Amino acid sequence: VIVLLSGGLDSTVLTAWALSRDNAGDPLGWPDAVAIDYGQRHRRELDAARKVAAHYRIRLDVLSLAPLRGELTGSALTDPGVTLPEGHYTDTSMAATVVPGRNLLFIAAAAAVATARGDREVAIACHAGDHPVYPDCRPGFLAAASAATLAGYGVAVRAPFADWTKDRIAAYGARLDAPLGLSWSCYAGGDVHCGRCGTCVERAESFALAGVPDPTEYADPSYWRQATAHA
Ligand SMILES: [Zn+2]
Repeated sequence: VIVLLSGGLDSTVLTAWALSRDNAGDPLGWPDAVAIDYGQRHRRELDAARKVAAHYRIRLDVLSLAPLRGELTGSALTDPGVTLPEGHYTDTSMAATVVPGRNLLFIAAAAAVATARGDREVAIACHAGDHPVYPDCRPGFLAAASAATLAGYGVAVRAPFADWTKDRIAAYGARLDAPLGLSWSCYAGGDVHCGRCGTCVERAESFALAGVPDPTEYADPSYWRQATAHA
């Protein structure tokens, strides 16, 4: 299996899932990981992906789609002209973090690598909390993408967290002893997590709901309570 490892919390736990005995009845073999450089402003997540892969001693290849950056405009993640929204991750303002075509590009790149290596599966860490804002994380999209990669290359797309909440992922990751503290969520690209962007709020809330100690250093450690209280 090729794991799409962004370096975030969800894909860090996905890597743990791919390595876990939870797949004993459906062996995936030793996973490889692929991270995608799409010109994201928060470069820290690629460093996090390298740390997580090193932790697990799995192969990580960073595929560069950065030349597309000039085309992926209109998103706060790729376009310096778009302000990164703060607040709750289901707010309509978070639409500014949608990157045009992102998961189709990611799945295509990972499926190409899987095909070249003779791997049969690509795993992606979409979860239920992504559905309101990111259309290409929804089950219908993932099923259609998997049908396409299966038909074309014999490669299936697996999204074991597609119906999970993020706090369930955090709890599951803690149970698997995943290196959650190595993961990076923040879209703001600072030295520590900002604590105010949608993905920081979601991260902090999910640890709290899961009852898992949050290893993250936030520049603003209390904002998430305010953001989730008004959601
Ligand atoms: Zn942040």
